[in-house]
Amino acid sequence: RLKGKRILDYESGIMGDITASHHLLMDLHNAIDNDEFFIMLQPKVYMDTGQVAGFEALLRWQKPDGEVVAPDRFIPLAETAGLISHLDLEAAKQTIAAAILLRQAGFKLPIAFNASGIDLDQKDYVDTLLEMIIQSGLDGSLLEIEVTESQAMLNYDHINPILSKFSDRGVGVSIDDFGTGYSSLAHVANLAATTLKIDKSFVDHLGLDDAGDHVIEMVLHLGEQFGFTVIAEGVETETQRQHLLSRGCNIAQGYLFARPMLISDAVKWLLKQTQ
Ligand code: C2E
Ligand code: CA
Ligand code: CA
Ligand code: CA
Repeated sequence: RLKGKRILDYESGIMGDITASHHLLMDLHNAIDNDEFFIMLQPKVYMDTGQVAGFEALLRWQKPDGEVVAPDRFIPLAETAGLISHLDLEAAKQTIAAAILLRQAGFKLPIAFNASGIDLDQKDYVDTLLEMIIQSGLDGSLLEIEVTESQAMLNYDHINPILSKFSDRGVGVSIDDFGTGYSSLAHVANLAATTLKIDKSFVDHLGLDDAGDHVIEMVLHLGEQFGFTVIAEGVETETQRQHLLSRGCNIAQGYLFARPMLISDAVKWLLKQTQ
């Protein structure tokens, strides 16, 4: 009897999960129709001088009841539901608008947006995005596209020429979550990228054990060898900052410097940094 009850609990648990994500999926369709998505900007900084290197645009979904849903919950769902390219184009559109705004305020700083590997496989996404960039009249160097290492490597022969289309226009190309995705050296050497972003999981270990150190040193070495800028993500402590600086990694993003902010707050934050 007990065993039977446990199975029942287990099944109703799964049914609960399925129902919850089904509801979220219906909400997601509505949310696209109702423009419930917006971007937050998180600064990337030079840790030695504190100067600002640029921003990353991170997508947020605010439901009509005010609840803000984290991307970790809705991006995977959007990917399986075939909605991700639509969301990522929206994020890119808002990023371009933000870059124009910063430019008008006198700041020449690049803003990065994220692209799912699925996007780069779709001609529609790539063509629309390139067209949006051209139409904006914005200098390519004020934009950057971030794609994860695993997505870039999974489909390297197809994705690398597409990344070139962006770097040829002067748009920065960042390989995100670097160190987690089993890159082949030959591929890294020929990657149409400007930047490698060290994943937070390696930064987390700095100062605690050796687990992150070797990967970070290897990524910095790759950067030096092949001419990539290297940046660390998820820097939260002064200890991590010191460790990175002593290894020659100068650019970083993380709560130690700033959290993702609304565009208006990012402009205020910038003015405060530079005054
Ligand atoms: P990501 O691209 O690796 O972005 C970095 C994530 O780390 C962001 O979470 C950021 O807010 C968070 N973060 C930054 N500094 C710190 C720190 O010091 N400590 C901690 N604990 N976290 C930090 P967020 O905004 O929740 O985004 C999560 C992921 O969702 C992103 O990871 C990215 O993979 C995905 N994502 C976000 N926006 C988009 C988008 O427009 N399109 C796509 N395809 N994916 C997106
Ligand atoms: Ca990213
Ligand atoms: Ca990242
Ligand atoms: Ca990451």
